[in-house]
This record gives sequence, C-alpha cells and structure tokens, in this order.
Amino acid sequence: TVVTRFAPSPTGFLHIGGARTALFNWLYARRHGGKMLLRIEDTDRERSTEAAIKAILDGLSWLGLTWDGDVVYQYARAARHREVAEQLLRAGKAYYCYASQQELEEMREQARREGRPMRYDGRWRDRDPSEAPAGVKPVIRLKAPTDGETVIEDEVQGRVTWQNKDLDDLVLLRSDGTPTYMLAVVVDDHDMAVTHVIRGDDHLTNAARQKQIYDALGWDVPRFAHIPLIHGPDGAKLSKRHGALGVDAYRSMGYIPAALRNYLVRLGWSHGDQEIFSTEEMIAAFDLASVGRSPARFDFAKLENLNGHYMRLADDEDLIRAIEAILPELGPSRGLGTTFDPSLRRKLLAAMPGLKERAKTLVELLDSASYLYARRPLALDEKAKGLLGDDGRGRLAIVLPRLEAIADWSAETTEAAVRGVAEETGLKLGQLAQPLRAALTGRATSPGLFDVMAVLGRDESLSRLRDQLA
Ligand code: GLU
Repeated sequence: TVVTRFAPSPTGFLHIGGARTALFNWLYARRHGGKMLLRIEDTDRERSTEAAIKAILDGLSWLGLTWDGDVVYQYARAARHREVAEQLLRAGKAYYCYASQQELEEMREQARREGRPMRYDGRWRDRDPSEAPAGVKPVIRLKAPTDGETVIEDEVQGRVTWQNKDLDDLVLLRSDGTPTYMLAVVVDDHDMAVTHVIRGDDHLTNAARQKQIYDALGWDVPRFAHIPLIHGPDGAKLSKRHGALGVDAYRSMGYIPAALRNYLVRLGWSHGDQEIFSTEEMIAAFDLASVGRSPARFDFAKLENLNGHYMRLADDEDLIRAIEAILPELGPSRGLGTTFDPSLRRKLLAAMPGLKERAKTLVELLDSASYLYARRPLALDEKAKGLLGDDGRGRLAIVLPRLEAIADWSAETTEAAVRGVAEETGLKLGQLAQPLRAALTGRATSPGLFDVMAVLGRDESLSRLRDQLA
C-alpha cells in the first residue's frame, strides 16, 4: 500500500509551498487508498519552535489535509538514528573521521581555489582508528561508493544521475552524537514504511545522498517525486509580495480552503485543461506523471477568481461561520468587535445570496456588507456623494413619502412603490435607484436595492434616507 509523508521543519510557518507539498502527498495517498503520515523535523533545536509546530498543524487542519496516525517528532527518535549509524559502523559501511576544523577548512579553501564544491577527501576512510588523535571527538561518515553512478528514477524529474566521485563521504552523526538531517530522514522514512517521497525539488541532490545511505543499509529505496518550486508571477523566486506567505495569512485574507486547495493543485499539476476540481475530482485524477518539470507561477488573480467561485457555491451559513472564524482579526478595525451580535448575524444571513455574488474574498464580502453594520449618519464614498447632489436628493425627496406610506415593508412592496414613482414622473428606475442606493449603503454598488431595504428593515431604511435630506 502507498504511504506518503509530509515532513516540514518547524522553523517557520506553514508556507504556501509547503501546503502544496502536503496537498500532493495527501492526494496521492487518497488516490491510492493509502496513508499520509506527518513528521515534524524538529532536529534543529535552535530554530524549531512550538509556535511553528502549532501553525503547521492548524494550517493543515484548516486546509482539510488530514494525516493518518500520530504525528512523528524527529528529535524524539535521535537514539534510533544513532543506533543506525553505529550499525553501519559495525558493518564497515561507515567510519570515524577525526579530521580537525582546520583540515576541513583547508579542503574548503582548495575547493574554492579550484572553483568546485567542497568535497571531504576521505582521509580517515581507511585509516586505523588507533591513529586517532587524543581528545578529538570524531564524526561518523558514510563510506560512500567512490566510482560508478548513483541514479534516481524520479517520478517527476525522470532519470537523474550523479557521478559518485562527485559525492563525498557525508556525515551521518556529528561529533556531539546528534544525527544529520540526511541520516534522520532515511531512517525515519524507512521505519515509517514510506513508499513515496513527494517533496520540493530543492531536495533532489539530497535524494542522491539518501539513496547511498539506503543502499549501505540494504533497505528498499522509496519512490521519489521532486516537484518544482513555486515562483512569483515574474518567474523569480517567490517573494512575500507575490504570495510567499503562511497559510494563516491566506486565511486572514479571506480565502476559503476549497478554493486554496483547487488553486494549489493546479500549481504544477494539470489534467487536460480542467481548472475547477472538487476535492473528489482531484483525488480521482491526481497523478505524479502530470506534474510539470518547470516552476509553477503564483497568480493572485487566479486565486481570487477561484475563491469567488467557491464562495458562490458555498452554503450561506458556512460562509458566515468562516467569517466568524476570522472576525477576531477583522472585526475590531471595522467597529464590529470579535463576534457578531445576533441581529447583525441575521441580517448578514439574509443578505448573503446577494453579497456572495460579488465578493472574491471573505474580507471583501464583509466590507461589501458594511451597509448592514455602518452607523448613522452613513459615511459616503466619493461615488455615493456624487449620486447625492441636488438632483439626487431631489429625487429622494420625491420617493421618501411613498416609502413612508408602506406599512408592510418588503422587497416587493418597496419595489412597487419606487416603480410607481418612476412611472408617474417619467424618470428611469435607475435615476431613482442610484440615489437611494447611495443613501442606504454609502456606495454606488451593492446587492439588489430592494433586498437591501428588506434586510435593513423599515426604520433603519427610512432613517438613512432622511439623514440625507436633513
Ligand atoms: N524537512 C524538510 C523541509 O522542510 C523536508 C524533508 C523531506 O521532505 O525529505 O524542507
């Protein structure tokens, strides 16, 4: 059975590239009826934080990318990593290296002079440990093959070949007894029975080193799939401005999980020219063969359009809940506090069908609903001010008494009243509706005018119109 894993380092938030890697692992596992495991690679004790771990778990949960089984913490497995290093040592596949900092610096210097990457020269590879200098704590290095090739048949990159003479004897265990990343990943993937390693192609070279460790241990090598990184719209490395943000930032900007999943799956993967994928469709269609080899480009406009699409499909009550979840961040600056009061919540729900037609994010949606929670007298935007000049106010004055005469206030009765005025005066409906809209919402655009009046109710609607005539 297929076992994939997502293995983030908790040194920062769950960024958008990590989320995409997690999604691909999740989809591949679901597609094949397998499991996706989660391993937190917290061996860098200086840079790993609890806050980052929490952000990763929260981000995955919010995106709906559930993992199977318990979270594995890599640092807790250090004793096992040490054991495997010692196993290699005993088998003659690894050795103690006593090279001093100074010796290593000389090798680095030489590499610099020759303009090539540093390679440890293997000076302790075949030396008798009895020659070990006193008081020096050794590292353990892998006895890597010196000739021939290391080959990876990557599911995305195809066949990738390294000359073994270019790969030096990598460190497995540091002199303080801590495992290196290279060793820990191999041991954990093996012990977790991982069959498919799907990750960013910045790890491609690591795959060669890791394969050498698998081979030395006589362990099965998992399938590798190295997916191209995400670039900015300009083709350069993804910057903050272009979307290199944490998943939590996307949540705060008002994106919803279904949209983000759909957006992320198309960053690097394609299925004919289909753009919209329900989660079921993604699972059914996802494959590694259709992951492209060139970097995907981040495109906020596309994400917004997808978000608008999924918001229109979403259940109204679910949208309110999604807004409530980020209201502690959005509410205070809008005078809303951190929760909706029940009457505003009811109005929002009533207005939702109209509101969600227009908005591309939950933030836009909340702002476009500001007429529901704005305090009188309403602040008017520039366009609304333009609509409420002398002409506009004159027309309001004509309509107002007709609206005041309505006892049974609804979208239908207010519409009938305004249409009646239009017929009698010969004015176009829009000539009456625009100043009404401006006075009622403070804007020149809004959901349907008569729905707005119905949701606001009779008292509030009439008061807002009177405010403009005062
Ligand atoms: N912890 C590594 C990272 O966050 C990933 C290691 C892997 O997937 O093998 O980049």
